[in-house]
Amino acid sequence: MQLTQNDAFHKVETKYPEINKAILQNLDTVIKIRRDLRQHPELSFEEKRTSSIVANYLREWGYEVQEGVGGTGVVGILKGRNPGKVMGLRADMDALPMDDEISAAYKSINEGIAHTCGHDVHTSNLLGVAKVFSELGLEKGTLKLIFQPAEEIGQGAKAMIDEGVLVNPKMDLLAGLHVAPILDVGEFSLVNSTYDCAAVDIFELVIEGKGGHAAHPHRAIDAVMISAQVLVAMQQIVSRQVDPLKPVVLSFGQIVGGTKGNILPNSVTINGTVRTLDPDVRDQVPESMEKIARGIAESFGGKAHLDYQRVTSSMSTDEHAKNDFSELVTELFGEDSMHWVTPSMGGEDFAEYSKLVPSLFFRLGTRSSEETDYSIHHPKFDIDEEAIRYGMTLFSVLSYKFLNE
Ligand SMILES: [Zn+2]
Ligand SMILES: [Zn+2]
Repeated sequence: MQLTQNDAFHKVETKYPEINKAILQNLDTVIKIRRDLRQHPELSFEEKRTSSIVANYLREWGYEVQEGVGGTGVVGILKGRNPGKVMGLRADMDALPMDDEISAAYKSINEGIAHTCGHDVHTSNLLGVAKVFSELGLEKGTLKLIFQPAEEIGQGAKAMIDEGVLVNPKMDLLAGLHVAPILDVGEFSLVNSTYDCAAVDIFELVIEGKGGHAAHPHRAIDAVMISAQVLVAMQQIVSRQVDPLKPVVLSFGQIVGGTKGNILPNSVTINGTVRTLDPDVRDQVPESMEKIARGIAESFGGKAHLDYQRVTSSMSTDEHAKNDFSELVTELFGEDSMHWVTPSMGGEDFAEYSKLVPSLFFRLGTRSSEETDYSIHHPKFDIDEEAIRYGMTLFSVLSYKFLNE
């Protein structure tokens, strides 16, 4: 492994020589683990191989290990020589149901499953941090490492919380990261607003009419026409009913109805997603959707049924932790490495922890060339592995400082 930007770590070397040395000594192993995970991706709640690899390493390195937390989740605990604060670090382990189209030797061998969201990187990076602290030990406090399943379907964090991951011991701070090909290697970003990313809800709306011959619409109740009116009217929730300073996305990704151009169908089914940042707006939108769908459908003699499901909450992290992180990045790698960005209307189930524990979530730059410029969830997504050194450094130094302050 040829590392190109060693001088970028000059400050880390001077200020945290032990951590820097431990990271360098283990980087090759971590990259090997990462490539092995990329080659053997597993879907949400099916991360059996991955979680047993994680648990075995943690045990070997002297961690207290809990397995099967919230399905396939793993927790590793390392206690310091003296009592103190508890620092939590979280990684997600699942892959996506899609093909892997990278040309590297570590391309997925599991057909139709790919680590195109970089959770292989998150998992190996956190294992790397585990190794660093198993070598250095902790003077004070406790390190709690959370390897969660099923982030992609927004259920893993909740499942682990339901099985007690937030207690015994309770954490004083929980940090997470996500790889970001929109940032260069060596760059980091944080969100400069109350909410980091959006709450994700999904819905199925069924408009019921009465089928018939397209030539005699007056003897039918046209579910297709009602659906069209409902879709257009619902966009007015965004533009007319919600405070314009509070973002909402209302998208309909699928409409299914009818079999032929001259037959009016009995019903039309519409699937979509709602994204919001503000929890009050999150409550407001489905109420309005229900009223509009029912009102319009009934006015034409039809019916509407809305099945609305809340998947993940919006993420709100700790102001203080964000500022500390930003200062740390600036101190270690310079001002240009730190970016403050606007919230994303995408979702991340780390949000579930962020509602209950002081949290920090940052993005880790992974781009350095054309090959590493594909967005996450693209079949050719891959990272410049030098990013892992940055990820391990930030998680390690952050934890070290937090526990020793
Ligand atoms: Zn993803
Ligand atoms: Zn992801």
